[in-house]
Amino acid sequence: MVKKTCPNCNRDSFSTMLPAQWYCPYCNADISQAAAKALLLSSISLRDLSRRREADRNVKAEEMQA
Ligand SMILES: [Zn+2]
Repeated sequence: MVKKTCPNCNRDSFSTMLPAQWYCPYCNADISQAAAKALLLSSISLRDLSRRREADRNVKAEEMQA
């Protein structure tokens, strides 16, 4: 698991491996040259990520009901 912090929007993105080309999922900037940081699978950041996905799902469910 590796993490990169986008120099453009300053948000963190994660990947299970280090791809040759890495685009920020938030602002679509090419962050392939940004420094990657290795993460342990048990890290708190990973738990934050799944919690964020949970929140996204809740938002979509609300949109569908409206
Ligand atoms: Zn970005």
